[in-house]
Amino acid sequence: MLRIIVCVKAVPESKAAESLKIDPVTKSLPRLDIPLEINPLDRNALEVALQLKEGSGAHITVISMGPPPAGDIVKECLALGADKGILLSDPAFAGADAYATALTLAKAVKKIGEVDVVLCGRASSDGATEWVGPELAVFVDMPIVTMVREFVKTDGKNWVVKADIENGYRLVQAALPTVFTVTQDANTPRTLSFSGIIKSRKKEITTWGLNDLGVLEDSVGLKGSPTIVSKLAYVESKRECEFIDGTLEEKVDQLINKLVEAGVAS
Ligand SMILES: Cc1cc2nc3c(=O)[nH]c(=O)nc-3n(C[C@H](O)[C@H](O)[C@H](O)COP(=O)(O)OP(=O)(O)OC[C@H]3O[C@@H](n4cnc5c(N)ncnc54)[C@H](O)[C@@H]3O)c2cc1C
Repeated sequence: MLRIIVCVKAVPESKAAESLKIDPVTKSLPRLDIPLEINPLDRNALEVALQLKEGSGAHITVISMGPPPAGDIVKECLALGADKGILLSDPAFAGADAYATALTLAKAVKKIGEVDVVLCGRASSDGATEWVGPELAVFVDMPIVTMVREFVKTDGKNWVVKADIENGYRLVQAALPTVFTVTQDANTPRTLSFSGIIKSRKKEITTWGLNDLGVLEDSVGLKGSPTIVSKLAYVESKRECEFIDGTLEEKVDQLINKLVEAGVAS
């Protein structure tokens, strides 16, 4: 049976985004007292796994690194049809950048053991660095195909996928085990069903902390992050619009004068 791990991030609910304030000390987004939701592209990643499970059978483990409230996100994945849910939660994991996040997820993947496919969303809706998938692949020493929009051949050990490139796609053959990052074009994620919620009530989520993963405190979280967001500034784009009147020649003359005045032409 296919063994799939899906990495699911708990992100601030999009409707709460306006009220988000970056923590002035850690420069990271506080996640404790704001409503969280499943990262939209991780719903597509989970949907890929669920369709594989319905198609040819698979065991799906969801892993999520986040504060205790992120447990509700893992529970929702179980209600959608995942078999096992693991929350990676420890104060030491807080403030992690993409590198430290990928390392922590990798430790969990290794602790889970045998795996054929690791699925991630292409990007999160908050940090959106798109780095966790590729960095995770390096830490677990697996190949990676990013921006997958279609799983063309998924039988046997050599899969074929369609993955985005600018203005087109590439067909990639990948020997399992492999990490794939998924785009929104891959599918239309299912929504929660009442029967799914009932069935998931019996499924416990497991919580792993620093000691369970056997990692050193200074290799994870803010301490293990080689990058620190030193400042976050929202740049307002002040676009002004001015209409120029006159004949075509007059308009061109006026435009050139204005460009010269603005110092962008001579
Ligand atoms: C505004 C802002 C700017 C930032 N800039 C940087 C930066 O320049 N460099 C840097 O290293 N960090 C940065 N961070 C921090 C970074 O966002 C966090 O480390 C984050 O946890 C991981 O990166 P990401 O959200 O960008 O992941 P992405 O790489 O965008 O996420 C891709 C996929 O990885 C998986 N994934 C990511 N996080 C988790 C998780 N916690 N649990 C389970 N799966 C997960 C999901 O499948 C997700 O779809 C920034 C954060 C913010 C809010």
